Amino acid sequence: MTDNGQQGPAAAGTAHDFDLFVIGGGSGGVRAARIAAEHGARVGLAEEFRYGGTCVIRGCIPKKLLVYAAGFADHFEDARGYGWTVEGVRFDWPALVAAKDAEIARLEAAYADRLRQAGVQLCASRASLLDAHRVRLANGAEYRASHILVATGGSPFVPAIPGAELGITSNEIFDLPVRPDRLLIVGGGYVACEFAGIMNGLGTHVTQLYRGEQILRGFDEDLRDELAGAMRARGVALEVQRDVVAVEKAADGLLVTADNGETHLVDQVLFATGRRPNTAGLGLEPLGVELQANGAVRVDAWSQTAVPSIFAVGDVTDRVALTPVAIDEGQAFADTVFGGAARRTDHSLVPKAVFTQPPSATLGLTEAEARQKGPVEIYRTRFRPLLNTLSGRQERTMMKLVVGAKDRRVLGVHLVGEGAAEMVQLAAIAVGMGATKDDFDRTMALHPTSAEELVIMRTPVA
Ligand code: NDP
Repeated sequence: MTDNGQQGPAAAGTAHDFDLFVIGGGSGGVRAARIAAEHGARVGLAEEFRYGGTCVIRGCIPKKLLVYAAGFADHFEDARGYGWTVEGVRFDWPALVAAKDAEIARLEAAYADRLRQAGVQLCASRASLLDAHRVRLANGAEYRASHILVATGGSPFVPAIPGAELGITSNEIFDLPVRPDRLLIVGGGYVACEFAGIMNGLGTHVTQLYRGEQILRGFDEDLRDELAGAMRARGVALEVQRDVVAVEKAADGLLVTADNGETHLVDQVLFATGRRPNTAGLGLEPLGVELQANGAVRVDAWSQTAVPSIFAVGDVTDRVALTPVAIDEGQAFADTVFGGAARRTDHSLVPKAVFTQPPSATLGLTEAEARQKGPVEIYRTRFRPLLNTLSGRQERTMMKLVVGAKDRRVLGVHLVGEGAAEMVQLAAIAVGMGATKDDFDRTMALHPTSAEELVIMRTPVA
């Protein structure tokens, strides 16, 4: 039972109803429950809403389906340059929502089935902790478990401004009965930028107000600038250094007042202003489980809290709030505690994509982060992808490599353009193995692709 020679926490005694009780049926909780059960543990899982969590029900999966839906607008437009006559094209929002709902229902059922097949006892109920080994369900049932895993995820945060309750969040936008003609989005993060692209692509007039200097704080500056320019060129009315101070009902919609005094009359306001961990009401703190200022459960590298029998994975721990990370944390926990194979999630090199229009994706250090650690070489290219020639689309693809000047290691990969997310996933293998710029240079190009540009950038720009 080793991970770099370290001993992980092992399973405790069995004088309980369950070896593991999981609170929360999202990405992290479901994986942990299933793998623990497959390792032979007696597992219970409580979920108060729907199996699959944010990712499946109102996050990654429905979002990507909407991204595809919006992408057809590009295809119809671009097709003309390729000789097609495109006539009578119409978009039906309720039809998309219904199709999306059917797919999500299918996925949710598959999640629940796999858990049942693994022998996990499912409790369709909210649960809270009574002590270090006992949980109580909303229906009054109580269970004893040698281990408890908190995997309750997070919820959208809405700032306390007058009229904020008139707005919606990412929880509601997936199920709107009608597509808003005018949408104002507050925020400049993942959700804000992704929905700006989706709704703009589907024909909504989108205004996006972000309080900071540039969208996607924390991402590489060139990626942020390229994406902001592309979003504006596609028609998103993006304003930075602009916040919302009030929302009120008007005769013909919602009147939004910005901090410069300007007003915007829209049909819906989407607050995409971040998420907070779901820990309220779980009864964690009185038991000695430490919470951070934002409510996140404090855990060690083994996902273990200050109370040895209580663990936590996923967004509720506010480490890296992404589905594959939660899944890996759940798997590592189950393998360590119930599978005799200690392993900890490596949070150091997580590929990330923002499914904007065009998509953007990133891996490793930004140029600014890398410069703080030592001298770097920057390789950057901007080009019009082949698809955009006949279509007449002016949009460029941007690719950037951040390379350590001394050891030539590729430290960061930052892309904006079609296929960015798919490319970064594969680049993550090479970069994770310690690839150098010379390894990239030695790699034969695959022509004609956009990805080939990643291996033919020869001259540093800085
Ligand atoms: P983010 O943290 O990405 O963005 C939140 C945005 O809201 C930021 O621009 C932030 O500004 C702004 N904001 C925060 N508080 C306020 C406030 N009081 N007033 C005005 N603006 C405010 O959160 P999201 O909700 O977009 O996404 C949550 C997480 O979910 C992401 O961090 C990501 O981990 C995950 N996610 C991943 C996706 C993917 O992988 N493609 C897609 C969607 C979500 P500032 O920068 O100034 O703090």
